[in-house]
Amino acid sequence: MRIEIATLFPEMCEAVLSESIIGRARRAGLITVNCHNIRDYTLDKHRRVDDKPFGGGMGMVMQAEPIWRCWQAVCATMEQPPHTIYLSPQGHILTQQKAVELSRMPGLFLLCGHYEGVDQRVLDRIVDEEISIGDYVLTGGELPALVLTDAVARMCSGVLPSAEAFEEESHFSGLLEHPQYTRPEIWEGEGVPEVLLSGHHLNVAKWKREESLRVTRDKRPDLYSAYIDKEP
Ligand code: SAM
Repeated sequence: MRIEIATLFPEMCEAVLSESIIGRARRAGLITVNCHNIRDYTLDKHRRVDDKPFGGGMGMVMQAEPIWRCWQAVCATMEQPPHTIYLSPQGHILTQQKAVELSRMPGLFLLCGHYEGVDQRVLDRIVDEEISIGDYVLTGGELPALVLTDAVARMCSGVLPSAEAFEEESHFSGLLEHPQYTRPEIWEGEGVPEVLLSGHHLNVAKWKREESLRVTRDKRPDLYSAYIDKEP
């Protein structure tokens, strides 16, 4: 899996992507993530990447040309054009299902917008889909691109110890995960559910399943109904 991020703030992305599980996976060569500074692709001597919107209005708009040149330069290094995503509050909301789908693609190009957004003409030329991380507006596409990269990369082979590590987690099957406990066995006078100490694998599995259903029903009745409706 190769993820190419086009941004005005590559250092901001690198700071996150060089830490923790994703940072280790990159260093081990399990995934490739490159950050490209869109400013490096401008032909303007002041490295300008934005201008006033035609028709007037507040703020600035990112120009088409530097983004187009950045995308073309990245494409030239790949066998086939990457699946290109514009992080945008107008896109479909990112879900676990979408992250699974994207994790199976060989290459992604993530375009981070800023200011009032991006000249529509370059979006029409290069973007395959727009993805949002929620119905609210952020100052830039970097945090959404990092969220998407994390959600996708952790499902790439070898990044987590096994597929079970993410398949049993919230949202993968449509349910939320059961509660988790760790040592000490008694904390502030509170114990842990007896069955988890029993060593009885079948009973533990049954408890986890029942708790998963309960938690989903209590916290996210919408997910619970959708799951139950799909059950054979
Ligand atoms: N004027 C745009 C609009 O009303 O749709 C919003 C622009 S926003 C201030 C600047 C950039 O932040 C966008 O181009 C996009 O890349 C990113 N962005 C903001 N909110 C986002 C969200 N919820 N999901 C994904 N990207 C977002």
